[in-house]
Amino acid sequence: MASTQFQPIQGMSDIAPPDIALWQMIENRAREIFARYCFEEVRTPVLEKTELFSHSLGETTEVVTKEMYTLEDRGGRQLSLRPEGTAGVIRYIAGSGEAANNRLFYLGSMFRCERPQAGRKRQFHQIGVEAIGAPNPLADAEVIALQVHLLAAWGLEGAKVRLNTIGLPEDRAAVIKGLREAIRPHLNELPEDAQQRFKTNVLRLLDSKDEAVQKVVAKVPPVIEFMSAESRAYLDAVIKTLKQLEIDVEVDASLVRGLDYYVHTVWEVVHGSLGAQNALSGGGRYRIEVGKKTFDGVGFAMGVERVITALEANGIGAAQFAPAPPVFIVSLGEAALNENLLLLQMLRQRGVACEMELSDRKVKAQMKRANKTGAKQVIIRGDTELEKGIFVLKDMKEGTQREVELPELMELL
Ligand code: AMP
Repeated sequence: MASTQFQPIQGMSDIAPPDIALWQMIENRAREIFARYCFEEVRTPVLEKTELFSHSLGETTEVVTKEMYTLEDRGGRQLSLRPEGTAGVIRYIAGSGEAANNRLFYLGSMFRCERPQAGRKRQFHQIGVEAIGAPNPLADAEVIALQVHLLAAWGLEGAKVRLNTIGLPEDRAAVIKGLREAIRPHLNELPEDAQQRFKTNVLRLLDSKDEAVQKVVAKVPPVIEFMSAESRAYLDAVIKTLKQLEIDVEVDASLVRGLDYYVHTVWEVVHGSLGAQNALSGGGRYRIEVGKKTFDGVGFAMGVERVITALEANGIGAAQFAPAPPVFIVSLGEAALNENLLLLQMLRQRGVACEMELSDRKVKAQMKRANKTGAKQVIIRGDTELEKGIFVLKDMKEGTQREVELPELMELL
């Protein structure tokens, strides 16, 4: 009992020092890259009306039917913790009209009540962008280029972009019919639950992890063959633009995404270090209806926890981004303690990170604390040093110390 008393609830984590340093690096570099692509930040509430998600993500999608944290507030309203970021951003844009920037990014917590397992948390974090605008293959390529740039800025190697098209909504019926016809002769090769899927959501057979299903899928033509000329031309234009930008992608006919709102381009970034849950991010072009308005846009969302797993597999960890060690000030006697408080404030105002013991404790205890902070340099000043107008500067690594005057001290720090 005692061991779980202070744990966060299942599937959720505290993100704290020293690990936080890697999170901060990821967020800081993301902000830098987003600024270069002229995306601005938006922060929407984590709680929204349930209908916002069920309506925009699709009533029957797994995220909506099985994974949302939904509650009723005191006024009897149905609310949900956001399972993803796009719906809230589009709601914001819908409500702001012309005033809203149509290139926005977000960083924040998302909530899905999934069975916790490696790579699947109930509270996780996404970094995502939304570029609102009419379908245009160049816009899709631009957002993919931004994402690849971001991965490089983090120092991540070995990530792969898998690209496909979902086609236009008008193609959907032809795709489903074409797929069913191609799979039907192999129906008895499919396990029972897949035979059920064949009826309810044949598209999802394409990205099944079941070997028997994959064998059948390998025998059917790529979905693009059932699509209109317009959809095919759109995908070709995205691929051509990415080639011009020298961005490597792998066209993968089996890629379908879980949400209803996608049209045309969809993609995923995968990394070999992630095991079964190998997606770092999902992205695509969408058409979302919020209220009575329809929005076209393109965007992606990256899972920060998975980015961290992949970075660590690349040998990039929090230790490399730990904050610089502080300077520690040790005081001997009450007069020195007061004077050192002024020194502490002066150093901080000059941009030096420093800390001191604020109660009158033994030197040994103060040095112990200095060690714990990781300080490389310690300033020691007691009443004797005060009288002489000097400071003792101790090098913690070498174990040496010497007396310095104020100008030299300022220069050294
Ligand atoms: P999705 O909208 O489901 O495609 O999610 C986009 C990205 O968010 C995924 O590629 C993952 O990196 C991340 N993600 C989604 N669900 C979870 C989860 N339960 N735990 C951790 N990361 C997740």
